[in-house]
Amino acid sequence: MYEREREELVERLVRWGYLSKQDIIDAFKKVPRHEFIPENIRDYSYADQPLSIGHRQTISAPSMIAIMLESLDIKTEQKVLEVGTGSGYNAALIAEVVRQKGGVFSIERVDELAEFGRANLKRTGYGWVQVVVRDGTCGYEKEAPWDRILVTACAPELPKPLVEQMKIGGKLGAPVGQHYMFQTWVIAEKRDKGELKIEERGGCSFVPLVGKYGWET
Ligand code: SAM
Repeated sequence: MYEREREELVERLVRWGYLSKQDIIDAFKKVPRHEFIPENIRDYSYADQPLSIGHRQTISAPSMIAIMLESLDIKTEQKVLEVGTGSGYNAALIAEVVRQKGGVFSIERVDELAEFGRANLKRTGYGWVQVVVRDGTCGYEKEAPWDRILVTACAPELPKPLVEQMKIGGKLGAPVGQHYMFQTWVIAEKRDKGELKIEERGGCSFVPLVGKYGWET
């Protein structure tokens, strides 16, 4: 289902310059985005726009997801933490690139969304991705350190525990800025001795990261 629509979306994302890395292109071609979208709006699955997944949350637009994954430079066999499972779509794309040998953990704070994401991942063959319910601003110490950390909701600054849980040489991608506006997509790389190299990669718009090291509500 929707195979032609998916193919056309990927072609557009490549043509517009959002997608260039072959393993990420292949993941976009393979993962059925419509399986992660609520049934009543499934026909919009392959439009380049964010869509509501309930609980005042969204699945990001495909072009934004392409920016996140390409800028974070996710590679096979890396161990990746995602903060903000939502529909599970991002986690499935990451899983397609890193494969089971690496490991993908995804944290969600809303119980019902974690359930939704988990069910979508299982139905599409990514049941090995571990979805955990907790405050993702505190990271997931038990499985740290991480090669890559992807944050899909916006905090006023990079949450300290996430920075602490990065591997040396690891990267963290996150939107940083204000509530719903004036946000920047940031890539932080942890260098030797633990210092961070920060790169700003353009404007973006995400829902708030709510938690101890994020926003209060
Ligand atoms: N990555 C998701 C996808 O593929 O559908 C979309 C994520 S949505 C833009 C942001 C998600 O972050 C929401 O599901 C929201 O509930 C979650 N979130 C917000 N604050 C959080 C926190 N402190 N810990 C974990 N999840 C959080």
